Amino acid sequence: MEKIHTKADYLDSLKNRNLTIYLMGELVEDPLTHPIIKPSIEAMAETYALAEREPELASAISPYTNEPINRFLHIAENNQDLYLQNQMQRKLGQLTGTCFQRCVGMDAFNALHSVTYEIDEKYKTDYHKKFISFLTKMHESNLVIGGAMTDVKGDRSKPPHQQADQDLYLRVVKRDKKGVYVSGAKAHQTGCLNSHWMVIMPTLRLTEDDKDYAIVGALPIESEGITYIYGRQSCDTRSMEPGEYDVGNKYFAGQEAMVIFDNVFIPNEYIFMNGEYDFAAMLVERFTCYHRRSYVCKAGVGDVMIGAAATIAEYNGVENKSHIREKLVEMNKLNETIYATGIASSLQGKETKSGNYINDDLLANVCKQHVTKETYEIGRLAQDLAGGLVASMPSGIDIHESDMSPNLKKYLKGKEDINTEDRVKMLRLIENMTLGRNAVAYLTESMHGAGSPQAQRIQISRKVDIEEKKNFAKKLSGIIKREE
Ligand code: SF4
Ligand code: FE
Repeated sequence: MEKIHTKADYLDSLKNRNLTIYLMGELVEDPLTHPIIKPSIEAMAETYALAEREPELASAISPYTNEPINRFLHIAENNQDLYLQNQMQRKLGQLTGTCFQRCVGMDAFNALHSVTYEIDEKYKTDYHKKFISFLTKMHESNLVIGGAMTDVKGDRSKPPHQQADQDLYLRVVKRDKKGVYVSGAKAHQTGCLNSHWMVIMPTLRLTEDDKDYAIVGALPIESEGITYIYGRQSCDTRSMEPGEYDVGNKYFAGQEAMVIFDNVFIPNEYIFMNGEYDFAAMLVERFTCYHRRSYVCKAGVGDVMIGAAATIAEYNGVENKSHIREKLVEMNKLNETIYATGIASSLQGKETKSGNYINDDLLANVCKQHVTKETYEIGRLAQDLAGGLVASMPSGIDIHESDMSPNLKKYLKGKEDINTEDRVKMLRLIENMTLGRNAVAYLTESMHGAGSPQAQRIQISRKVDIEEKKNFAKKLSGIIKREE
């Protein structure tokens, strides 16, 4: 494929792909023009647009091709690279107000860089070399890689091999000299249709009985045997209504789909783990370590949320009330807590055996744990400032095109010098981010993306050295002797 340099090149690269996509019972002919799918493509495209506008922030030099590539394709070579990933993520959150979908791949291949190296070290395999040549190919064309980790999981109390239906975790169903065939499904795959390649990975710690599930491989999005079933988002059909008055954010949205694999072939050159079940936990842990601090994206989306809340307070004529100012301070404090823990994690990164950098795991989990809660509190305060109209406003058609238009423009008026249409637009944006399409990205994805809240609490308890803390206390209380 020709190298993608611009947003326009990216949009061109998505044309005429032969993908099987279902959305509300119908096969999608062209995702690029589908009103529900298009805003998600625009959000991904913004990652290329930002690299055009601010190359120092959103691009980097590939160590393999020595050419500029998008920062989302770059292997972190130091803590500054990790920090710049966060800077870029916050910026893209501010620009789109939603999930721009590209971090999963970045975090997956940064984890695979070190994990493939360490598998080779133990088993004398050649995964790392194959992985680097795959990455070089991606760099040459500046492509989007999606990371496919989350299996559908069936009965959560049972490991993959004990499931009543063996397909509930993606697995190898056939092997031949040229490669492997996989079947199963991956759930809520962020940006999968807007990617060029995806990397499949196991989703949890595996045992010897789960060997067939220990598979990592890269494959083109349009591989034979893959079906995509588009995930619904609250209020998504508003994008199909005439006038698009009630969408809130008509430019951008996130994307999740269920991906079903039916005997999908992966050739040997794109296989980076094949049966080494004892490395599945390491891969999951490193991927989630990178990905949980990538959630500073939500601080960027939070900037939009706070801006919307402050604007609607102004339009309602209450921006100077002390309790409103106090609530805005609280929203900012919560939002900056997300950002601060994320960048602290990046800035305390360490070099791995393979030579790339990984951020601090404890702080990444603290960051993501904040994301699971503070976004909801920020959203709650935004609704508080918006007033009840955020959930009860008549439709845009009634406001703009019906006999009731003059009446509605009169009775939806806020502060005298503020245009009624602007007040309505701001209320719709708050609705979009707290109840509508982009509430998926701002709230539920904050809860469950990169692992549900309990997963972070387990990791926090593992990473904290509680004995060391007990010792600090014992020394100062005189229970054990202090070294002078
Ligand atoms: Fe990136 Fe955030 Fe979307 Fe995850 S939720 S892909 S970190 S923008
Ligand atoms: Fe996510």
